[in-house]
Amino acid sequence: MTIPVRVPAPVPPLAPRAVSVGASPVREILALTARPEVISFAGGLPAPELFDMSGVAAAYRAVLDERPGTALQYSTTEGDPGLRAAIADRISARGLPTAADALMVTSGSQQGLSLLADVLVEAGDVVVVEDPCYLAALQVFAFAGARVVAVRDVGELEDVVRAERPKFFYTVPNFRNPTGRTMPGQERARVAEVAARCGMWVVEDDPYGELRYEGEAVPWISSYPGAEDRTVLIGSFSKVMAPGLRIGWLRAPAELLRACVIAKQAADLHTSTITQLAAARYLADSDLDAHVATVREAYGQRRDAMLAGLPEALPDGSQWTRPEGGMFVWVRLPGGVDATELLRKVITYDVAYVPGAPFYAGAPDLTTLRLCFVSETPEVIREGLARLGNALR
Ligand code: PMP
Repeated sequence: MTIPVRVPAPVPPLAPRAVSVGASPVREILALTARPEVISFAGGLPAPELFDMSGVAAAYRAVLDERPGTALQYSTTEGDPGLRAAIADRISARGLPTAADALMVTSGSQQGLSLLADVLVEAGDVVVVEDPCYLAALQVFAFAGARVVAVRDVGELEDVVRAERPKFFYTVPNFRNPTGRTMPGQERARVAEVAARCGMWVVEDDPYGELRYEGEAVPWISSYPGAEDRTVLIGSFSKVMAPGLRIGWLRAPAELLRACVIAKQAADLHTSTITQLAAARYLADSDLDAHVATVREAYGQRRDAMLAGLPEALPDGSQWTRPEGGMFVWVRLPGGVDATELLRKVITYDVAYVPGAPFYAGAPDLTTLRLCFVSETPEVIREGLARLGNALR
């Protein structure tokens, strides 16, 4: 007797957007550089040896000892009131008066970008970005079906906005990922003017602002005339406390904030209660500003080590940025070399960078690459640059 072979019917296909967006090229390259002998300037990882492990552990312990029922329970979508108040105080202290109920807690600032795309972008809507742009923001906008239009500089913004009628302009104003560039005050004023005159939201994504190693802080776009009622400020503890906490926030005008809260409810109900309470407890019991000062000191030395070694490591005719803070230096190689192709060879010297091409929403400059300088000590940075120099010679 033969048993009839039943060929199962195929399962339904993925949604087209899931096929078209693809995985982040940076993640795929990071996988290639995961061998322990590789000195990687590729990732964007904060230095784990600088995390305040005992302070964070004590905060979690205190919360579990003192309020276990609350810490392990569901909580409100907007976020823990104590944490919102503490974040609002920190934003206010940096020059932008903010009430606790003008912001919500998000699961990393990355979630803030997704929520904004959920509530503002319909398929085909235009989003304007700076070119090159933070990769995972481009992914969010692609998932939403946005048509992404890139501007090389703020001088082009008004013409592009008038022609394209975007929902919003997305910008990383301080020590931008990937270039390290900071938008000067007159450009911020200009963004605010264009938003007011042409009618558009501004999404100001600032995970790096507290990591300034020289120069004076520039006020957020949110505080410039014309921008107050149409700018969303997104922030995060990832770069100053620890990214594994996944604590970010979104500050927005009331109606937009309400819409984001509803979108978050649909996405994940709320950010981890215990982690929110632990973060609030950390802010109450520890001195985050003192911790950030320590991180700033160490990262500043790492930036200096990177900048000091680049003239020797890179071929004549290379250009690179000189960031006043943040985590990244952006390099342009001479002679039309393709930095993605070159990476195959560079990896054989046990050193890695991220090619610049994927960061472009417009025509990519294939000769560019991004170097992260915070993940390694100055000694290891020097060794990594020596290897890079050998690879490029
Ligand atoms: N925005 C920018 C510009 C970033 O570089 C990053 C992290 N690489 C994020 C947002 C997301 O950070 P998080 O979700 O950890 O707050």
